[in-house]
Amino acid sequence: MARDLTIHKAKVPGLGFKPQSACIESPIGWANRRAGGHVTLPGPARRKAHRVAWEDHHQRPIPAGMFILHRCDNPPCIRADHLLLGTARDNAVDRMLKNRGGDRSGEKNGRAKLTWAIVRDVRAQAKAGKVNRMKMGRELGVTATAILKIIKGETWQEQA
Ligand SMILES: [Zn+2]
Repeated sequence: MARDLTIHKAKVPGLGFKPQSACIESPIGWANRRAGGHVTLPGPARRKAHRVAWEDHHQRPIPAGMFILHRCDNPPCIRADHLLLGTARDNAVDRMLKNRGGDRSGEKNGRAKLTWAIVRDVRAQAKAGKVNRMKMGRELGVTATAILKIIKGETWQEQA
């Protein structure tokens, strides 16, 4: 059954607005598979970077049960004006919208677990010689083979 997603989009004010400014991606942290690829900050609480960024900008904690959505559809982005406070329902609509057709390559693929920021981080760590592919794959929700392919440049090829 086809759903009319434009109706859902209209019900979440602020979503669907394409920011003209460039994203600012968090240089640190790992994607959390269960959180849909959002970047987390290291540390005991493993807080998600975009949530910390929102609180920092607005100088108040995120209300209980509320979500921070990305207007720019770029999970690692921590730019305050690209972030939007939303309810759990808004979040569900947002995720549904992101899984529809269009450009399916790389991180624009709604099913993609990785982003360029993560891929480059993996490569930097591999260069520094501190990659445990099994462990990293587990953290990122991909196989050790997928990590190896990233490191060897067989997937996620940089445009020179
Ligand atoms: Zn952004």
